[in-house]
Amino acid sequence: MSETVQHWIDGAATSGASTRTADVFDPATGEVSRQVVLAEPSDVEAAVASAKKAFPAWRDTSLAKRTQVLFKFRELLNDRAPELAAIITAEHGKVVSDAAGEVARGQEVVEFACGIPHLLKGGFTENASTNVDVHSVRQPLGVTAVISPFNFPAMVPMWFFPVAIATGNTVVLKPSEKDPSASLFIAQLWKEAGLPDGVFTVLQGDKVAVDGLLDHPDVASVSFVGSTPIAKYVYERGTAAGKRVQALGGAKNHMVVLPDADLDLAADQAVNAGFGSAGERCMAISALVAVGGIADELVAKIADRAGKIRTGDGRRSCDMGPLVTKVHRDKVASYIDVAAADGADVVVDGRTITPDADGSGFFLGPTLLDRVPTTSRAYTEEIFGPVLSVLRVESYTDAVDMINANPYGNGVAIFTNDGGAARRFANEVTVGMIGINVPVPVPMAYYSFGGWKNSLFGDTHAHGAEGVHFFTRGKVVTTRWLDPSHAGLNLGFPTNA
Ligand code: NAD
Repeated sequence: MSETVQHWIDGAATSGASTRTADVFDPATGEVSRQVVLAEPSDVEAAVASAKKAFPAWRDTSLAKRTQVLFKFRELLNDRAPELAAIITAEHGKVVSDAAGEVARGQEVVEFACGIPHLLKGGFTENASTNVDVHSVRQPLGVTAVISPFNFPAMVPMWFFPVAIATGNTVVLKPSEKDPSASLFIAQLWKEAGLPDGVFTVLQGDKVAVDGLLDHPDVASVSFVGSTPIAKYVYERGTAAGKRVQALGGAKNHMVVLPDADLDLAADQAVNAGFGSAGERCMAISALVAVGGIADELVAKIADRAGKIRTGDGRRSCDMGPLVTKVHRDKVASYIDVAAADGADVVVDGRTITPDADGSGFFLGPTLLDRVPTTSRAYTEEIFGPVLSVLRVESYTDAVDMINANPYGNGVAIFTNDGGAARRFANEVTVGMIGINVPVPVPMAYYSFGGWKNSLFGDTHAHGAEGVHFFTRGKVVTTRWLDPSHAGLNLGFPTNA
């Protein structure tokens, strides 16, 4: 309880000018395990100044050297992934195997960024005009800010910073104050990998730090991930300050089960995707749309499986851990009453479980709600916990209409053996990431991650080609090496003669 998690500025841990702190909990025991410092405006200044100072040298560091550092960072991450997973579990609560999975998915973006020389190759046109050549390059932006949520303290920052650093930028990461230690561990790995001081900075904090970064004239871009209201706020304030902003928001992910689907497979996947990481995933399935007459059978199969899930301390042999804080746990649990009052059936009630844990952790077991009305707040709002709502519809068209009317558009899945129906679904649905018999369709690092509608503000998704584009800006250079034959005045507009 004595330890205080600090900032990482100029290649070293520091408390800076921070006088305010926040409690960090062990969600499995309910105890305060440490404190985290919260940045004051002068800490934002120090963090950005350090990143700004480091930028010119890093930008001009050869691609060969930059990728050497990335490869080394990748090796260190590989060797020390279990330590990082344990840190995540201690502050977030997810089971250790799930934390290790998060590190592995983040590492894929590091591996993608190791190939940056290929991704940064520009175009070249010889003789665009007579003896005139044209080439294009993409150059880094400068100081880039990354602001991340609590639910993936390692993976979400890694959606952005490997690409930002590989393309020659410097990064100021503002992690969630709920689980801040993973970011410091990562900072130490970067240092060990040989990254120059100031290229990767961690600024711990809350709204003061976020607002400071959004307004700072030396911050060129902001990559934000969090809830929709804050994403919208960050997008509007950041763009008003002239920055490039990508702000990924909340979600309400549907899983459609067509009558021809294998119901055992669908039930397994609904349970995995609904209750994995206690539903605290932006790609978790929270609304299961049963089409036609299959609902009774499907609900029974899911209820049976949900009853077998072992909930408890993520360091023990459990399937599902606690929620991140007591406040969040109670908010999630309150939706069970909301749904019941609105006429839903509470088929499995997670409030009644006995977790495998010591102390008073923030547990809520898997919860299954059936016949949830689309007008209920249990459907219209993001719950972000282990609560799976079943909605019953008559037809495929009803299912698509429901999904397309939803203000969120992060992920969606369809379960069917009908290729034609699946293809039509992928074509018609207004959602950014689609799974066909895949419940959590998180794109690989070489594709880009992001939703539509209220799940993303801005034009650019994370990592893959779009990530490289976000962290660079283009230049086109037109070149002619003059010889005496080019002499003479001509005030006409240059053409490609
Ligand atoms: P959050 O919006 O509360 O916090 C996200 C970040 O914003 C944190 O760093 C936090 O310190 C900061 N913040 C919080 N309140 C702020 C304020 N008033 N002003 C400025 N900054 C503020 O989100 P969370 O609870 O940490 O994370 C869960 C949310 O993130 C869910 O809505 C989830 O769907 C979303 N999420 C989305 C994606 C995606 O890819 N779309 C991925 C992961 C999580």
